[in-house]
Amino acid sequence: MKNLLVVLSGPSGVGKGTIVSRLLEKGGFYLSVSCTTRAPRQGEKDGRDYFFISREQFLSEIANGGFLEYSEHFSNFYGTPGKYVEEQLRKGDVLLEIEVDGALQVKKAHPEAILIMIAPPNEQELRARLKKRGSESDEKIEERIKRMDYELSKKHLYDYVVINDNLDDAVEEIANIISRRKGEKK
Ligand code: 5GP
Repeated sequence: MKNLLVVLSGPSGVGKGTIVSRLLEKGGFYLSVSCTTRAPRQGEKDGRDYFFISREQFLSEIANGGFLEYSEHFSNFYGTPGKYVEEQLRKGDVLLEIEVDGALQVKKAHPEAILIMIAPPNEQELRARLKKRGSESDEKIEERIKRMDYELSKKHLYDYVVINDNLDDAVEEIANIISRRKGEKK
């Protein structure tokens, strides 16, 4: 495989979405669109943000071996469609924005994939920020914080950890990691 599979993970609220948008603006990347059983949020579009499918469809895709990886978290299934990624990889480098369990499955199947964890400069501060998110119930907030601790506890398994202290610097650092790795592959 000539093109790179780049996996970005990081806890909720760390700025993953913004970093991904900035990398896409730079060009040369294809973002993989995942399947999920969760309901679309306001403004989300099927086929652009996710492929929104039913639990039955998801389970049948698992049985057909259709996912490169999948995981069940926040009471829903999320998975990367294998065929879709293969097609995109023929065209260029592919970015996956997925959580840790899925990322580690990708690394097992594709040891050459680059795993990058985006971490907050200050975990305490992110925890406090998540608590202040007004739109969610206490239970949901607790769930996200537990998940954040879990995700960060796996960062030693990643190839790189990038601290999102300053957005421009974090984007630059990730772009540099990718171009360095591309140089090594030539
Ligand atoms: P959200 O529901 O906020 O869009 O996403 C929740 C979490 O699911 C995020 O950490 C996101 O990175 C992760 N996620 C999104 N798509 C996938 C996927 O295809 N596989 C896995 N394992 N996680 C995903």
